[in-house]
Amino acid sequence: MEVWDDLPGQDKAITALRRAVAEGNPAHAWLFTGPPGSGRSNAARAFAAALQCQLPDPAQRGCGQCKACVTVLAGTHPDVALIATEKVNYQIEDVRELITKAQDRPSTAPWRVIIVEDADRMTERTTNVLLKSIEEPPPHTIWILCAPSPADVLVTIRSRCRSVSLAVPTRQAVAELLVRRDGLTAEQADFAARVSQSHIGIARRLARDEEARRRRDRTVRMPLRIRSVSDAVMAAAELVELSTAEATASSTERAETEAAALRTALGMDADSPIPAQQRSQFKALEENAKRRARRSTHDALDRSLIDLTTFFRDVLLLQLRSGTELVNEYLSDNLHAYANASRPEATVAKIDAIAEARVRIGANVAPLLAIEAMMVTLRPTK
Ligand SMILES: [Zn+2]
Repeated sequence: MEVWDDLPGQDKAITALRRAVAEGNPAHAWLFTGPPGSGRSNAARAFAAALQCQLPDPAQRGCGQCKACVTVLAGTHPDVALIATEKVNYQIEDVRELITKAQDRPSTAPWRVIIVEDADRMTERTTNVLLKSIEEPPPHTIWILCAPSPADVLVTIRSRCRSVSLAVPTRQAVAELLVRRDGLTAEQADFAARVSQSHIGIARRLARDEEARRRRDRTVRMPLRIRSVSDAVMAAAELVELSTAEATASSTERAETEAAALRTALGMDADSPIPAQQRSQFKALEENAKRRARRSTHDALDRSLIDLTTFFRDVLLLQLRSGTELVNEYLSDNLHAYANASRPEATVAKIDAIAEARVRIGANVAPLLAIEAMMVTLRPTK
């Protein structure tokens, strides 16, 4: 298994990254762009692993088997840092700390690699601090910035980075990955790839976790239940509750997977005690998991709103008779009935209301308040 195997639909990006590794003289700053779920951070991690891979032949690097590859992918390689923020924006102090870290020589590997998830969550002032280090990087340091699109990063940064854009993988590519790697049936994999709209991480959770499927189903059906203001208020409370449950479940699962990967990397059994010298590595994993759990509640809520949007997207497509495939094909009867009872203008207004709620929550409005206001506008209208 190579480090590139879990990046479905990204052949073009992989070719470019392989070449950069094989040539042995990679650019010092990279910008990985792609929509959420396209696998930006996975691609960044795979590239970091290939850069640090211990195989002597550069053209073969990214083997996925050596200690460097395994520990980079598990998130425990000492010279690869992955930085994310649980806040809306990175704090300037966090970035200063990163830059100090970038000055250090790598301890064992050829490079010090710093992956910045969500580089779009940086204010201009913070970006300028980072810019200096990217303009004149220490010879052994490689920055990998991730963002949804090049436009989300200041042009001063963008112009100094080598850019890699990730495509939204096709439904088939995601489904194939789920069958091959996660052992799902073709039918399960196809359903998950479809309703997640090719978001790999979400597709995998939905395919493997019946509770996650149930939560999504409750969310998508909400518009069918909302008739009155009090229905709307109840639906809002339920949506927040479902998202919190989803966030807790997904971060617990990820923490467990990472701890298991680290045990394997260190050659330990599932139940052998952690030796003293390795405790700090497990501790770091735990800290990471806690940080992510805080952020994932926000992300899960946002994801629920996207799920809710797919209902109205499907309704609108039916109303416009576009013939495009429905995301929620399994609710086809309900969607047809809903579409026939209202007009496209009303559907567009509802899609806008959800988009506005997402923006307000992103701007730190209390989630329940923003969602209640939104749910009230989701009552059926002609
Ligand atoms: Zn390797």
